[in-house]
Amino acid sequence: MNVKNNRLVFGFALGFFLASTSYAEDAAQTFKWPKGQKAAISLSYDDALSSQLDHVIPTLNKYGLKGTFYLQLNSSTIDQRLSEWRAAAKKGHELGNHTLFHQCSKSGPGRDWVEPGRDLDKLTVAQMKDQVLLANTFLYAIDGKRERTFTAPCIDKNAGGQNYIDAVKSEFVGIKLEGGGVAADMSKFDPYDVGVYFPTGVTGQQLIDIAKEAAAKGTMANYTFHGVGGDHLSVTAEAHEEFIKYLAAHKDIYWVDTFIEEMKYVKTQQKK
Ligand SMILES: [Zn+2]
Repeated sequence: MNVKNNRLVFGFALGFFLASTSYAEDAAQTFKWPKGQKAAISLSYDDALSSQLDHVIPTLNKYGLKGTFYLQLNSSTIDQRLSEWRAAAKKGHELGNHTLFHQCSKSGPGRDWVEPGRDLDKLTVAQMKDQVLLANTFLYAIDGKRERTFTAPCIDKNAGGQNYIDAVKSEFVGIKLEGGGVAADMSKFDPYDVGVYFPTGVTGQQLIDIAKEAAAKGTMANYTFHGVGGDHLSVTAEAHEEFIKYLAAHKDIYWVDTFIEEMKYVKTQQKK
């Protein structure tokens, strides 16, 4: 190859490199949060726990923020405090599907607590699909909504060794399905395979630091709380309120909304 050809090849390679770099930058820059905020925050609360009705909903209402409550429909609070869940939905909080019976795989490490009658390993995909669809109908009876999001109990994907998520995916706007918390890149974000952070025993500042990490990346942080000021896997009501107060004071930086609204928005941005 002569010098001229070498220059030509180099020119092509350089052009291709510059084009691909600017393409990557464009992809990152085209994704914008609705009011130019730096990050979206999804506050989720799993398992329909009493402490959420006692401490979370009053705090979110006090600061004017919306949360998503993934209801396990056989929880005693559905039976005994149904009017409070209905009131939360009327206030704009999202009621999400967390199945009827919260079946998890008993075979994994640390799963001795799974009751034999609620062992996901012993169920089939068809049985789980039936139950997840019935849970959507049950939720429709509570809040009158036809669109829903899902959090898989224990973020387990397999019923009887087969993936059941794929069988129910089309019924949802989004699914929380992995560990994690802060999304790496919104252009590659999958609304049906969202990673969540499970805060337990943390301070308000630790919760705030996760949000700051999402703001620095321009992405999204997904928090999945359980007990707040009581119940299992809990954080204190004080730590939770410190975090909520911080988010409410920084609405220019953080878009806090229900998971369903955030996923609808992400999908419209990804279509561009
Ligand atoms: Zn759960």
